[in-house]
Amino acid sequence: MGIYDSVSNVIRHFGCRLGAASLLGVLVLALTGCGAFPAPGYSEKTGAEVMMDTYMTFSIKARPGENADSLYDSIVDKGRFLEKDLISGYIEGSELSRINESAGKAEGYPLSGEMEEYLTDCLEISEKSGGAFDISLGALIELWNLEDAIKNETRDYIPPADEEISDCLKSCGYEKIRIEDHRIFIPEGMRLELGAVGKGILLDSAGEEVSKISSGILAAGGSIRTIGYKPGGGKWNIAVRDPFDTGEIAESVGLLGDYFVSTSGDYERFIKADDKKYHHIFDPKTGYPADSGLTSVTVVMKAEEGSGLLSDALSTAIFVLGENEGRVLANEYGVYVIMIRDDGKIVRYGELR
Ligand code: AMP
Ligand code: MG
Repeated sequence: MGIYDSVSNVIRHFGCRLGAASLLGVLVLALTGCGAFPAPGYSEKTGAEVMMDTYMTFSIKARPGENADSLYDSIVDKGRFLEKDLISGYIEGSELSRINESAGKAEGYPLSGEMEEYLTDCLEISEKSGGAFDISLGALIELWNLEDAIKNETRDYIPPADEEISDCLKSCGYEKIRIEDHRIFIPEGMRLELGAVGKGILLDSAGEEVSKISSGILAAGGSIRTIGYKPGGGKWNIAVRDPFDTGEIAESVGLLGDYFVSTSGDYERFIKADDKKYHHIFDPKTGYPADSGLTSVTVVMKAEEGSGLLSDALSTAIFVLGENEGRVLANEYGVYVIMIRDDGKIVRYGELR
C-alpha cells in the first residue's frame, strides 16, 4: 500500500465521506490507487494530528537521502510549538496571550521576531482589505462566544445585544495597534486573535521541511499546501466542498507543483438560533457575522508568490468583503479565487497559474 492509500485510510478513520483532509472546506481528492510508491531510495510518511482544534493530515514523500519520519515529526513539533508557545490566544503563557495581557500598558510587549513578522503581515492585509481582515476582534469573538456554543451544541443560544456589540467594537480596530522598536502596543480592552491565519502560518512554518520533500500534501483544516507533483506526475486534485451539501463537491482544481489553498465558509462553524444562522467570520464594520452574499471562498496561490498566512487571511477577507470587493482584493494580490454565492452560483476569478 502506498502512502496515498494510507492517507485515505487515515481520512476514512475520521469518518469523512469524501476522503476529506478535514471537515472544512477544501479536500484532497484522488489520493488512492497511485501505485507509484514506494520507489527505491524514497521514504514516505502519512499521519493525522489534531492541532489548533482541527484535524490535520500530512502525507509526504521525502527527497532521496532525507527521512520522511523525521520530517513529519519536525513539521508536527513546529506546529505544536507554534500553537502552544506563540499564536494561541487560549493557552496561558503563549506569546499572544501575553500580548493580550499587556493591553493598555504603556510599556507594551516585546515581540519575538516570528510574531513581529506575522503581525506585520496581518496588519498589511488589514489595510489592503479595508479592514475586512482584522486580528483585533478577540473581544468581539469572545462576546459572541460561538465556539463554545458550537462545541456544546447549545440549543438556546442567545446572541449578544446590539449595544453590547457596538460597545465591544470600541475596543477593536487594527488601526489602533502600534508596533514600534519590536514592541507592540494595544489599547485596553483589545484582544488579538489569530484564528484566521493559524493554519496558514503552520504551513509556512514547515518551509524548511518542505524543501526536503519531493511530493506531498499538508492539509491543515481549511488550508492546504501541495508539494511537487502527485505520484506518477499528475496534478493534485483539490476539491471545494459544496456548502449546501457538505458531503458533496462543488468544484475542484488541478494543481501542478507547490501551492497554498485556503477556504473560508459560513457552513463550517455556526449555530442556529431563532431560525438565524450565526457563523464564525465577523464583519468588523458591523460586529455581526459577515453577510456579504457569499457562503464559501477558496483562494489558490502559487507557494513561491505568497504564503500560507496570506492565502488564509485572504480567504477570510474576501468572505467578509463579498463578490465585488473580493475581486478587487484578489486582483491586487494576483490570486485565483472560487467564490460560492448564497444563491449557489459559483464565481471563479483570476488566473490559475
Ligand atoms: P477562517 O476560517 O480562516 O476564515 O478564520 C475564521 C476565524 O478567524 C474565526 O474563527 C475567528 O477566530 C477569526 N475571525 C473572524 N472574523 C475575522 C475577521 N474579519 N478578520 C480576522 N479574523 C477573523
Ligand atoms: Mg483564513
